[in-house]
Amino acid sequence: MIVIKFGGTSVQDAPAMVRAIQAVEKQLNRKPAVVLSAMGKTTDKLLKIAEKAHRGEVEAARGISRDLKGHYLRVVRELLTGTRLLKTEDRLGGYFEEISNIIQGLYLLGECTPRSRDAIASFGERMSSLIFAETLGEKGHPVALLDSREFIRTDDDFTRAAVLEEVSFPKIREQVAPPLDDGRLVVLPGFVGSTVNGITTTIGRGGSDYTASLVGAALQVKDIQIWTDVPGILTADPRIVSEVYKIKAISFSEASELAYFGAQVLHPSTLIPAVSRSIPVHVCDSSKIDQIGTLISASSIPCQTPVKSLACKKGITLLNIHSTRMLLAYGFLHRIFEVFDRRRTVVDVVATSEVDVSLTIDSEANLQAILNDLRAFGRVDVEPNVAIICIVGDNLRNTPGVAARIFQALDAINVRMISQGASHINVTFIVQEDKMEDAVRQLHDEFFAEPDPQLFEAIS
Ligand code: ADP
Ligand code: ASP
Ligand code: MG
Repeated sequence: MIVIKFGGTSVQDAPAMVRAIQAVEKQLNRKPAVVLSAMGKTTDKLLKIAEKAHRGEVEAARGISRDLKGHYLRVVRELLTGTRLLKTEDRLGGYFEEISNIIQGLYLLGECTPRSRDAIASFGERMSSLIFAETLGEKGHPVALLDSREFIRTDDDFTRAAVLEEVSFPKIREQVAPPLDDGRLVVLPGFVGSTVNGITTTIGRGGSDYTASLVGAALQVKDIQIWTDVPGILTADPRIVSEVYKIKAISFSEASELAYFGAQVLHPSTLIPAVSRSIPVHVCDSSKIDQIGTLISASSIPCQTPVKSLACKKGITLLNIHSTRMLLAYGFLHRIFEVFDRRRTVVDVVATSEVDVSLTIDSEANLQAILNDLRAFGRVDVEPNVAIICIVGDNLRNTPGVAARIFQALDAINVRMISQGASHINVTFIVQEDKMEDAVRQLHDEFFAEPDPQLFEAIS
């Protein structure tokens, strides 16, 4: 068995769906379960509909919904025929009627809870998987369309629900394995789940990657494939750096750091289920289905270059807690981190000195409450609008002088905080948000002037 996941661009229209199906057809003998993202920018549009509806802009909300429906109907008319087309049009019509009812409900209530956001966002993946499954059926493949809400159990932290693996894994095995063993293709929506009470949840933006690895881990598959709109894991985000290279192979720990620190190509939790079971993950380009992408596995190819890739993320807030009480006091850091635990806020990067603790958070949702709690320890300075840049590579461990090269490359950019991960495979630092892109370009020039051809490949 294998798991194949297609991202939004990879199924955005009828030609993209056809290419994705060809990628599946090439691997029929490997018993694929296919995980689908919503088509194109559907999730953004559904969330916009919810936003407009509860603000009273019902006509605008209905307009977006109509355009979306028009696109979906055009796609299915290109892909399907006969009664299969009629049946699919009918089901899509039903979904858009439900969306219309949600619009009305949000408008009347004048509010949109995270739970309602998840209800509306879930339609994206449910519709793309329906269309994909029907298109496979149209081509004569035996196929089972499943609803992931029946086996991905989560808590009720709507919009970023945590998956309950102990409950979900047996359900995945019960529901996904039998049709695969019967020789059918399985198609299922990514991103969605449900609480123990059956309320629809989603597992965080970009979460279909995570669905794929959860299903892969539960079934102990041979391979988890993430098909996307780039040739693999690259040396930096191609939207920032124009001359990036594809990385042929990378270790789980390196790729996890990249995903965690903002490389959008993988949802941050994707590798967690794969690592403990040593399941290889491939990142492949859905527009070039014959090319080999990046292999992520337990081992990595030895190479001459200290850095494999750069990740970055904006929208970060830096907090500096200044307290003379920290001097020689045990339990101090524990009490500080308790605040973030209580306020359910993730801390990304930490650095300490004798009397200061600096740390970053990527959500300001609970900032006021956090500040109130932290002020009990001392003065707290807040710096919003900063960015994290993370340099990753196994060889960083054994390469002296990397910090010097970083500071040299960033001569005119102020580095606000720097931290080396305990694994010694990453160096993370903070710059002002509006300097992030220049910083990434300068660092890429510095570290990838002569990339080792054993590991890096120019993109055609
Ligand atoms: P999908 O819809 O297929 O899940 P995403 O948009 O979530 O695709 O992720 C793919 C995007 O991730 C790429 O288009 C690219 O701009 C971005 N990206 C950021 N960092 C990297 C990186 N190091 N390697 C590859 N892609 C990256
Ligand atoms: N459709 C969801 C999103 O846009 C999940 C995903 O694409 O992985 O965030
Ligand atoms: Mg994604």
